[in-house]
Amino acid sequence: MTALITVRQGGSVIACDRGCYNAKHPNCDCQLCGGVNHGIGLERATANTRRLAPKWVEAAGEGAEVELDETVQQDPLFTIGDHPMEAHELPTFKHIVTEALKSANAAADWLRSDWHPDSQPTDKKGAARSEAAALLGKAIAAMERASW
Ligand SMILES: [Zn+2]
Repeated sequence: MTALITVRQGGSVIACDRGCYNAKHPNCDCQLCGGVNHGIGLERATANTRRLAPKWVEAAGEGAEVELDETVQQDPLFTIGDHPMEAHELPTFKHIVTEALKSANAAADWLRSDWHPDSQPTDKKGAARSEAAALLGKAIAAMERASW
């Protein structure tokens, strides 16, 4: 079990671990995080623990022995919201363009599709579809220029 933080104090051991941050049930019985890490997954719980550990350690009182997981001790390179994002997790530029192109082509295919005669759009909606298809065509051309 991966504990993000373990606090030993006078013979008692409390930890915020997988049972807390990966919990599927709504009730948190974690004595460390007080519920902030409950069921939110490893990455967000790691970020929370990084930020809040000093407070929890202080609350544990004098003489508490604290063990932080390695991942909690590492400084994230930078942070988006409270989600730590490390450089190695970022997609490459080529990957971004390729995936965007794939999605845009799928969208263009959808817009070219024939619809069921019972779902005939109004003229206004039909014109909006044509406009979207034309703009998407321009977007696809730009994405193709961005890929190589
Ligand atoms: Zn917890």
